[in-house]
Amino acid sequence: MYPILINIWMTIGIITFIILLIISAPYGRHSRSGWGLTIPKRLGWIVMESPALYLLWIYYFLYDGFSNPVLIFFLIIWSVHYFNRSFIWPMRIKKDGTMPVLVALMAFLFNAVNTFLHGYWFFLLDINYDISWFSEPVFIIGFLIFIIGAFINIHSDNILMRLAKNTEHGYKIPQEGLYKYVSSPNYLGEIIEWLGWAILTWSVSGLVFFFWTIFNLLPRAISHHKWYKEKFEDYPKERKIIIPKIL
Ligand code: NDP
Repeated sequence: MYPILINIWMTIGIITFIILLIISAPYGRHSRSGWGLTIPKRLGWIVMESPALYLLWIYYFLYDGFSNPVLIFFLIIWSVHYFNRSFIWPMRIKKDGTMPVLVALMAFLFNAVNTFLHGYWFFLLDINYDISWFSEPVFIIGFLIFIIGAFINIHSDNILMRLAKNTEHGYKIPQEGLYKYVSSPNYLGEIIEWLGWAILTWSVSGLVFFFWTIFNLLPRAISHHKWYKEKFEDYPKERKIIIPKIL
């Protein structure tokens, strides 16, 4: 059953990637009319991201996950990320603005399926995450990559937050941190973070999530880059889309 679900999910991911390369997701600076009902942006983020948090906790309660220190560790770092993304981050962004209900609904479904596949991997398949996992090279290397990615993501999100605070209306060219090199370092950080997660959990669900993060964020990074170049004549020419000096 699991391989079938994974294959279906990867296929949907590839189709989504192709669609997003053609049509940018209509929220934030790419908002436009014609996408139906809207909801306040902050509420949208809370509704669409929080399932990743509570659904994994439900798995832990249902399947006695608290008796395994390795799984508890996975739950902690997952929860720290999603608590920030679902509740702290939305409270720190500009409070004005809306997003289409459709975008929130699609992201909600994405998080629900992604968390379901992780819970399935952790609890319904016979994966041996015993205490020796903490000394495995995959765990140590993966965790370091995860921390580096989380740092880049949060640091870059903070730069945007400061910029937005100092910009009453509209947008400015970010100049700090990795923004000197790429247009979307927050997305680069997010992708590195979930690469680290895939390695530290050594899981198929983590690997598929890593690909899905690219499917979601690479097209958006391309749209952001194009948007910056169109909007600001003085946009730095040497700045890349998402990978310094390469892409
Ligand atoms: P953006 O970079 O588009 O925007 C982040 C915030 O900063 C928004 O409030 C935005 O305002 C504001 N902002 C962005 N650029 C500027 C600027 N130049 N001047 C002033 N304000 C600016 O990120 P997203 O909203 O797409 O994503 C937010 C977070 O969620 C990121 O950390 C991302 O990695 C993560 N994410 C993860 C996904 C995954 O698949 N794992 C999918 C989507 C997001 P406004 O909204 O008005 O544009």
